[in-house]
Amino acid sequence: MVSASNVKILILDDDSFMLKLLTRMLAKLGYISVVTCDNGSDALKKIDQIDTCPDLILLDLNMPDMDGIEFVRYLVDRQYHGKLILVSGEDERMLKTAERLVHAHKISMLGYLLKPVNPEKLSEILQQWEPNSSTEQQPNKKIYVAADIQSALAQHELVNYYQPKVSVATGEVIGAETLVRWHHPKDGIILPDRFISIAEENNLIDDLTHQVLQQAIAQAKQWHEKGLTLRIGINVSMDNLASLDFQGFVVNLVTENGLPPQKIVLEVTESQLMGSDTRIPLEILTRLRLKRFHLSIDDFGTGHSSMAQLRDIPFNELKIDQGFVHRACEDDTLRAIYDASLSMGKQLGMDIVAEGVEDRNDWEFLRQTGCDMAQGNFISRPLLPNDFPRWMEEWQNKVRTELIVAPA
Ligand code: C2E
Ligand code: CA
Ligand code: CA
Repeated sequence: MVSASNVKILILDDDSFMLKLLTRMLAKLGYISVVTCDNGSDALKKIDQIDTCPDLILLDLNMPDMDGIEFVRYLVDRQYHGKLILVSGEDERMLKTAERLVHAHKISMLGYLLKPVNPEKLSEILQQWEPNSSTEQQPNKKIYVAADIQSALAQHELVNYYQPKVSVATGEVIGAETLVRWHHPKDGIILPDRFISIAEENNLIDDLTHQVLQQAIAQAKQWHEKGLTLRIGINVSMDNLASLDFQGFVVNLVTENGLPPQKIVLEVTESQLMGSDTRIPLEILTRLRLKRFHLSIDDFGTGHSSMAQLRDIPFNELKIDQGFVHRACEDDTLRAIYDASLSMGKQLGMDIVAEGVEDRNDWEFLRQTGCDMAQGNFISRPLLPNDFPRWMEEWQNKVRTELIVAPA
């Protein structure tokens, strides 16, 4: 829990009674640095100034002018790094939908409160506010520009991490997804969300993907030589598929290193596949598929043209987005989307990977529903190759003793 006295909280609600009530509740919990706004525009002015930008916003969803959802969009534009609690008199389902939307925008939510607000619930939510939350962890809100990424590429500062994918039925380690991080000489470890799109917008994504692929293939080769024949997933940006050279680059690299193409999975994000001219990407993907590379449709369920992509591209694997996996066992809406994705993928003969498996409940849910593979922090965080052997030993042990009890 963070220290209550030195955090800045902003409450945004059009109802002045609610503003007073919440301020009082917060004061009782020791949160004294609280400002209130009864409309979105005033709140945005506070957010735009460093000295008034809050660490936490309590946001009412239903407001007459700028509603809560629209307000969230402005927060995204401003790269707001603080936390959010949604407050609303709407039913819980509405709040959960809004919560998912906020999550999709990568804004960090502490939770939601139903009106009339219960002080105990508020206190409970605030108690989960960990000191390693993004505000504290990333005081560095620096926005990187093309030249920074160019320098990172020239200095070889991009480092591949690998997150295991395991069989749900047996616990066996089937493969790993390559997730790139930038080991910045001054700013520490920078996650891909802060530089991939900038690389895409500035024609640097081909260089970036080439470096990631070269590292990943070299790593796969080392693992294969040691008898660990993992299937290695690599994230491919739609922009990489704009030129036919990409196909040749991948094929040569994999052939030169003597790896079977079946052990290389190219993960393509569905939402990026929606460009108007899909002929070249389609040709590249189809040719790679003919050469026996594996193709994976990533973040399934979050885009708009899933069906068309499934029809047009011969994917081998479908990754159900983490937003529909974690807590699907206790949420009917998530479960409906998860079930539909699973059954559609299965009917098309694809391997189904559930992403974002965060806890034991998620894991058990996958076992009950017959998902093929699981990936997520419950199994392992993304690892450096040196940490892989020790993790594998621990995981295999856990599988034997806790997770998969052999039938009597
Ligand atoms: P993605 O492909 O959907 O990758 C999964 C993301 O979920 C990773 O975030 C991973 O660290 C995170 N994750 C894993 N397990 C859990 C869990 O249990 N709970 C939660 N909440 N999250 C989990 P990361 O590494 O920050 O990567 C973000 C995105 O950046 C990736 O999303 C991928 O789209 C992109 N990316 C990463 N590496 C590359 C790359 O080399 N090239 C391209 N073009 N994109 C990349
Ligand atoms: Ca991926
Ligand atoms: Ca994904």
